[in-house]
Amino acid sequence: MIAKVRGHHLICLNFFRGEGYSKEYINNIYTVLKKEKAEIVEGPDDVCIVCPYLKDNKCGNSEYTNENIIMQDKEALFLLEFKPGMVVDWKTIAEKMPHILDKWKLRFCNDCGYQKVCFG
Ligand code: SF4
Repeated sequence: MIAKVRGHHLICLNFFRGEGYSKEYINNIYTVLKKEKAEIVEGPDDVCIVCPYLKDNKCGNSEYTNENIIMQDKEALFLLEFKPGMVVDWKTIAEKMPHILDKWKLRFCNDCGYQKVCFG
């Protein structure tokens, strides 16, 4: 089974701790993570589809802009050395995390509302 996953979720889902916008959202993330592989997509993915912030196929999160989210996706793919359309497995992503995490944290985590959830 293959989940469709956008760039920044390939990184952020490594730190998923069962928290999110709603029970439906959380259960959906577990479903995504249970799939063996991820096909990298641009724009809304299998996480976004149940997100209350998804409007007109764009992210309307009050903390970010859609442009900011797309920029995060691009930066995540750059760091992971992936491209849209590739199919990857979660183990490969997890193995890359130690090599890219410092750069990612410096760039994005300080301003993120989930920072405490991810890193305590
Ligand atoms: S906040 Fe935006 S990027 Fe995150 S799941 Fe919702 S729609 Fe997708």
